[in-house]
Amino acid sequence: MTRVLRDSYNRTIRDLRVSLTDRCNFRCFYCLPHGEPPIAPKEQMLSYEEIEYACDVFVELGIQKIRLTGGEPMMRRDIEQIIYKLAQLRDRGLEDLALTTNGYFLPHRAESLKQAGLDRITISLDSLKRDVFKQMTGVDVLERVLEGIQAAKNAGLEPIKINAVIVRGHNEDEVADFAAFAREHDVKMRFIEFMPLDAGHDWSREDVVAGREIRERIEERFPLVPVDEVRGSNTSSRFRFADGAPGEIGIIAPVTEAFCGACSRIRLTSDGQIRTCLFSAVEYSLRDVIREGASRQELIDFIEGVVMKKEPRHFINDPGFVAPSRTMSFIGG
Ligand code: SAM
Repeated sequence: MTRVLRDSYNRTIRDLRVSLTDRCNFRCFYCLPHGEPPIAPKEQMLSYEEIEYACDVFVELGIQKIRLTGGEPMMRRDIEQIIYKLAQLRDRGLEDLALTTNGYFLPHRAESLKQAGLDRITISLDSLKRDVFKQMTGVDVLERVLEGIQAAKNAGLEPIKINAVIVRGHNEDEVADFAAFAREHDVKMRFIEFMPLDAGHDWSREDVVAGREIRERIEERFPLVPVDEVRGSNTSSRFRFADGAPGEIGIIAPVTEAFCGACSRIRLTSDGQIRTCLFSAVEYSLRDVIREGASRQELIDFIEGVVMKKEPRHFINDPGFVAPSRTMSFIGG
C-alpha cells in the first residue's frame, strides 16, 4: 500500500522543495539586496548522498514531486549527479523532478540536465528590458538568460515555466509584454506577488502588485480563460489565451489571495532543515537526525512528526506579522 504524509489539518503532502545551496550569482533586490549573507560552512550542507537518502525516504512517504532550488541550484557542481540519483526514485513513486534556476548556466548545461534525468524547468525572468533586468537582478545578463530559455527548449525540458516577480514601480508595466512573450515562445508565464522574504526587510505592502491587477493588465491586451475550475494544490491560478494562442498564464498571489488551505508542500534547506511553510518561524534539523545515525524508521517518525506541525496558514496579513529571518535564497523558493 502506498503511504501518504498528512498534516494535522488533513492536508496531503506530495510536494518537496529541496534547496541545493544558499549561494547565488544574482543579487535580486527583492531577495538579496545587500549581497549574500554569510553562507553555511560546507560541513553543515547536506552532501549529495544525504540529499539522495532523505529524498528516498520522502518518496517512500508519498512525495511525488521534487523541485530542486536554492540559492542558485546550478552553482552546485554536482547537480547533474544529484539529478541522476533522484531520477532513479521514479521506480519508487516519484512522478516529477523539476528545477528552478535563474537560467545563467543553461546555455551550456541544459542538455546535460536533461540527460541526467530532469523532467522540466522553471526559469526566473523579471524583465524583458536590459536596464530593468539589470536593476532588478543586479547583473547585466538578460541576453544570456534568454539564450538559456532557448537552450532549455532545445533540450526538451518542457513544459517551460517562466517566473517573474512583479514589484510596483519596477516591472508592472511589462505584464502584458510578458504575456506576449508566453504566446510567442509557447511557455507558461507565471507572475508572482512580491512576498516579505527579502534579506533587506524592505518589503512594503505598497510594493505588492496584486494578482487581480496583474490579470487586468494582461486582459487589456489578451483576454484570458481560466484553465481549472478548481485550483487544487497548485500555487497558481492558471489561464489560457481566449484566442487559442499558445502559452499559458499563471498568477501566484500568496499575499492577496492566500492558498494555504490546499498547500501540499514542505521544504528542505541546503543545510538540512525541514521547513513546513515559506514563512515558518521554526525549522527542524533532519541533518542532525541523519548524522546522529538514526535508523530509517526513526527518520520516518521524525518526518511524520514534523509534518504534523505544519502551520494552518501564513500570517502575512495579520497585525504583528514577523518576516522569517532567512530569505528566499536560504529557504529555497
Ligand atoms: N536562483 C533560482 C531562481 O532565480 O529562480 C532559484 C531560487 S529563487 C529564490 C526562486 C524563486 O523565488 C524565483 O523565481 C524568485 O524570483 C522568487 N523570489 C525570491 N524572493 C522573492 C520574494 N521576496 N517574493 C516573491 N518571489 C521571490
